[in-house]
Amino acid sequence: MNYTKIIEEVYQDVKNIDDKGHIATYIPELGNVSPENFGIHISTIDSKEFGIGTYNKKFSIQSIAKILSVTLAYSILGEEIWQRLGVEPSGTTFNSLVQLETDKGIPRNPFINSGAMVICDILLSHLKNPKQDFLTFVREVAGNSTLNYSKNIADSEKSAGFRNIALYNFIKSFGNIKNDASEVLDFYFSLCSLEMDCKELSKTFLYLANSGRQIDNNHQILNKSQTKRINALMQTCGFYDESGEFAFKVGLPGKSGVGGGIIAIHPHKYTIAVWSPKLKRKFVQSHAVFRTIYHKNAIFNILKIG
Ligand code: GLN
Repeated sequence: MNYTKIIEEVYQDVKNIDDKGHIATYIPELGNVSPENFGIHISTIDSKEFGIGTYNKKFSIQSIAKILSVTLAYSILGEEIWQRLGVEPSGTTFNSLVQLETDKGIPRNPFINSGAMVICDILLSHLKNPKQDFLTFVREVAGNSTLNYSKNIADSEKSAGFRNIALYNFIKSFGNIKNDASEVLDFYFSLCSLEMDCKELSKTFLYLANSGRQIDNNHQILNKSQTKRINALMQTCGFYDESGEFAFKVGLPGKSGVGGGIIAIHPHKYTIAVWSPKLKRKFVQSHAVFRTIYHKNAIFNILKIG
């Protein structure tokens, strides 16, 4: 399979689509990113890689980082974590409060903000130096000791984090959060502020395409069954209230972030990261890349739809 040729063609096709998206500005610092950035990077489990466009410029990975936090919590506590949160698609936006009332403070899944906050709470209770230990874990998984949080992004989100503060309090009122607001929110905002480029992203998540094992050193991050389950959650919940659409049009487990990044996994084959910061309800360019690749019926047809 000539990945290089396919990605190159798709990049050129999508680059010129009429693109009416806007950068997310509810986190003020994200508004400083140039809307013209557009990069793609693919990494295969047999160590081939290819990038095009701004694939080596770092950006705020935002909710993509929630895959790493749930991975760490799952690897420490196993199935026990599912007593604190569910595995169902929410059908609501990432920061919705409504379901928590009927669900009595048990978030539907680990990718909506409420679920990611409960995962942060679990990690706070089990790590000695939570922020540092989590960063060490991310660096190990990525095989890259230079990765870091962005203090600017985390501070910026904190300054405008009213809805996340509300989510914290709501869950706390049901007793499903143990640690203090300042600790949970600080950890959550730091997690979301992690920065990577498309190349780093696609390499980091190769373990999900490789039955839970890192490619470079064979280190087992999650066991095989846990890996399938994280992929299943990405497939069903990775895009919030657009998860069905991504599954329908692309068919791969994936995860978006409001910084404009998307990571998708083709189990046993490769991972692919796309970054285009212009969003509207749907991520205009990033989604178009996946749809175009799919329509080329080339490398994404695992479900053989259509
Ligand atoms: N940090 C963001 C928030 O809580 C994450 C949202 C996202 O990427 N979907 O609003």
